[in-house]
Amino acid sequence: MSESYDVIVIGAGPGGYVAAIRAAQLGLKTVCIERYKGKDGKTALGGTCLNVGCIPSKALLDSSHHYYEARNGFEVHGIAISNPQMDVPAMLARKDNVVRNFNGGIASLFKANGVALLEGHGKLLANKEVEVTAADGSTQRISAGNIILAPGSRPIDIPAAPLAGEVIVDSTGALEFTQVPKRLGVIGAGVIGLELGSVWARLGAQVTVLEALDSFLPAVDAQIAKEAQKILGKQGLDIRLGARVTACEVQGDSVKVSLSEAGEDKQQVFDRLIVAVGRRPLTTDLLAADSGVHLDERGFIHVDGQCCTSVPGVFAIGDVVRGPMLAHKASEEGVMVAEGIAGHRHPLNYDLIPSVIYTHPEIAWVGQTEQALKAEGVELNIGTFPFAASSRAMAANDTAGLVKVIADAGTDRVLGVHVIGPGAAELVQEGAIGMEFGTSAEDLGMMVFSHPTLSEALHEAALAVNGQAIHIGNRKKKAPAGVK
Ligand code: FAD
Ligand code: AMP
Repeated sequence: MSESYDVIVIGAGPGGYVAAIRAAQLGLKTVCIERYKGKDGKTALGGTCLNVGCIPSKALLDSSHHYYEARNGFEVHGIAISNPQMDVPAMLARKDNVVRNFNGGIASLFKANGVALLEGHGKLLANKEVEVTAADGSTQRISAGNIILAPGSRPIDIPAAPLAGEVIVDSTGALEFTQVPKRLGVIGAGVIGLELGSVWARLGAQVTVLEALDSFLPAVDAQIAKEAQKILGKQGLDIRLGARVTACEVQGDSVKVSLSEAGEDKQQVFDRLIVAVGRRPLTTDLLAADSGVHLDERGFIHVDGQCCTSVPGVFAIGDVVRGPMLAHKASEEGVMVAEGIAGHRHPLNYDLIPSVIYTHPEIAWVGQTEQALKAEGVELNIGTFPFAASSRAMAANDTAGLVKVIADAGTDRVLGVHVIGPGAAELVQEGAIGMEFGTSAEDLGMMVFSHPTLSEALHEAALAVNGQAIHIGNRKKKAPAGVK
């Protein structure tokens, strides 16, 4: 007889470990299976996000920002330091330490909540059984009334740029360069490419970003994307749109990249090349042929709005299913599924999942873009407020960017908040809270915001929607009903 659980979770990333903890909190006998080994050879919880994604990338973004500021941003504050130096191995060690701390933190949370951990590879069999293969090849079978698949994703590799040692790397390799490359190429101007490109540019690399598409950040509000392109360009990122990489040739410690740009074939040599062309769902050896779980045409596990797969009692969450590949989306799906199993069904509002690009300044948004709403024919009132007019941003000498609030012209309901600037991620979250409660621009405008804060830029942009901003000139706009 295989050991039986209420819930088996495969994968301990932000989707799986959160689902497991929530299920255990709700009194369900829960086991989580994870196979990933950290640098010390021991099982490391936290998935892509903690081990090779969100957290290590943010650790390097923060370190490199401090270095950049020390070299370029201190003088204006009257701070003189001579020739600051970057110790790259120390920066990497700090990053590894942050990751290790949280690996241990999740293991402690499992213990505290009574989540059992099985180390090894999990495979879903028929009849809600799971086979677990340990690192030594031994196997065991367990079963459960409910199974949550949370295996995540892996980087897409392209034949034009096969990974090659330390010279051509994916996002994981780009977190481990032991010295600053002189000439760094990045394939893909998506979130990951821009963040990792920024890290090494701040440390002194000449960074060229090669992007096949003709438009920059097409999913982002066009006004914000245009501003981002300008600001990142000024920081020294050479962002080349319409540049498709067609082949790579490693030549010793460098790589010759062939690309097609504006109809012309070109070549460029880099010391290091990061391939950041997106991620794909990871389902290798996850599903036995008779498991009954179906994939969609793009290789994602097919689920409905409640993350139910084609097999009753089997759920899938996170990067392996449709929707944005974001840690917070994975976690909230985990919570929704665990609570559903315990009998508390509730929906997740997929329309209000915020996105952030952690460049400096940050780029963040929630809700819909101006271009998408206009394409749907929605009449809009739009308010913007530049950080150059924010006293807090000015005091911090961090004034690039703007806040943009988009509201329905008929109802004044806020449909999108888009920010590029200091603290963008946090400001957008304020917008998201309001939008979850159906806020109008007028509601936001009537609230009291602390002075001086960056949040005041959101307040002013909301006021600007109806032509009532105080600290910036207003375009002539109709006041909402009842307001003179
Ligand atoms: P994962 O985190 O990928 O976890 C899946 C886990 O399952 C892994 O540990 C894997 O080893 C394990 N596993 C897989 N198959 C099996 C199996 N058969 N048996 C046992 N174990 C298995 N998102 C953000 O929201 N914010 C960010 O700032 C951010 N930055 C990122 C930066 C980088 C460089 C990268 C690469 C990604 C970033 N992401 C970010 C995306 C984020 O990491 C993912 O969206 C998130 O990790 C998805 O969570 P998940 O639980 O679905 O999968
Ligand atoms: P994302 O999916 O947001 O991480 O972005 C990945 C980006 O890589 C997309 O914008 C793709 O257009 C881009 N891309 C994919 N293949 C190539 C290629 N061969 N050369 C240049 N850019 C590419």
